[in-house]
Amino acid sequence: MRLTQLSTLSLLTAAIGLSLTSTAQAARPPAPDLSNSEFQQCLDGLKNSSKFRSVDSFTFNNYRPSQPDPSVIQSLNYQPEFQKDVWDYLSALVDKERVEDGIRAKHQWRDTLRQIESRYGVKAEHVLGVWGVESNFGQTLGKKPLFESLATLSCFDRRQSYFQGEFANALKIVQRGDIAPNDMTGSWAGAFGQTQFMPSTFLELAVDFDGDGRRDLVNSVPDALASTANFLDNRGYRTGEPWGYEVKLPDGYWAASDRKNKKSMSHWRNQGLTLADGRPLPYDLNSAGLLLPAGIDGPAFLVGKNFDTFYSYNASENYALAIAHLSDLITREDSSKTDFITAWPTDDPGISRQQAKDIQQALLDAGYDIGGVDGIIGDNTRTAIQQYQTSRGIFPADGRAGQKFYRTIIGSAAPRQSQYGNQYGQPVGNPSINSQPLNPAPADRMGQLIQRQTTTPNVYSPQPSVQRTIQPASNNGNIRYRRVTNSDGSVRLERIN
Ligand code: CA
Repeated sequence: MRLTQLSTLSLLTAAIGLSLTSTAQAARPPAPDLSNSEFQQCLDGLKNSSKFRSVDSFTFNNYRPSQPDPSVIQSLNYQPEFQKDVWDYLSALVDKERVEDGIRAKHQWRDTLRQIESRYGVKAEHVLGVWGVESNFGQTLGKKPLFESLATLSCFDRRQSYFQGEFANALKIVQRGDIAPNDMTGSWAGAFGQTQFMPSTFLELAVDFDGDGRRDLVNSVPDALASTANFLDNRGYRTGEPWGYEVKLPDGYWAASDRKNKKSMSHWRNQGLTLADGRPLPYDLNSAGLLLPAGIDGPAFLVGKNFDTFYSYNASENYALAIAHLSDLITREDSSKTDFITAWPTDDPGISRQQAKDIQQALLDAGYDIGGVDGIIGDNTRTAIQQYQTSRGIFPADGRAGQKFYRTIIGSAAPRQSQYGNQYGQPVGNPSINSQPLNPAPADRMGQLIQRQTTTPNVYSPQPSVQRTIQPASNNGNIRYRRVTNSDGSVRLERIN
């Protein structure tokens, strides 16, 4: 859930990184030493301030924290050491596991979703997409006590005024009896429940859909789903419209990513755009803007107003794209392939949460102290990967957990072909691309896949290009490719140097 004007990094941590905190300790500033007497003095002041006028003193005193929580100030000032590529971000948020969980949830809550659709006009799968990305279908709600977090943020460091309002709103929620005080836990910044609403959003938009008189976004799935639909409706959702489409740009087309610059579908048709599979663009979007999350060479999308309502949930285009893509896969009820039709411009695609867990377990087994296995590649895991790469001469030692590193550390146990790419970690879907490795992974250079080649010669034929890549690795392990459409309509990748 959106935190107005906090940095993007904080947004990410607040919204999907509920458990990033467990693996991100290494990159954090040290916990500040917060004075409790200053904290208590601050709370005394707040109690009598206008923001807390409608909070009764019983409620205030009852839930007033006895100590500040310095860890939330750490989180507020946290700067990740590593930047995340969009394909890493998407592959963790939209993986086979989440699609299957979503399909199950769709069947389980079919009647409720149908009622929600008829009341709010929001497509069931769009609600499910938000639910899946926000809280993993109610499984990841955040465990930080909200009153401690919000009271601490109200009294120290940046943005105190904003958090004072949210602290007051959180108290109003328990005062009204919507949510039990013990259930008031969430992200460090105060987003909570299955919808990960901030308290102010809760007061504005939460609804009681199961009719028990309480808006319980923690324990009631109908309340949570209906509140999500109400949120999207409130942000301008257009009933009956898709969020948008993956599209194919005509050869040689150049454009900047500009989602907000919406044009009619006729305009885009005239520009030569088609659906990604080549079919003509439908006319069921009122208007759409072009979204290019990885630039002109990666997957391209035309997105309409409903995409913008996903965006308003967390002020991140990649985040909205995860919701959009997840909702499509749940609609299709197909978890077998979670890639887009156009490959990301990388030869080293991202990994699923299960693969992240496998990597973490392998690192633990190899003696790296990364805490626990949670499937979230945080700074601790990335630091360990970097150390592992450095110690074994793997280039680049960038700490990134992609398909190449997965194969390196998992070795021969890794599946040869997966939804995330071919056995070389390259995008699947085009036979001319997959018949031979474009850029064998570090693992190949280390002899692992080369050895496999000798035992299963039909995987690919030895090529001079393969031999070349056995040469000492360049320091650029993240080779980029440009997609070029041949005259016969097929697509090839050209390496960009
Ligand atoms: Ca209820």
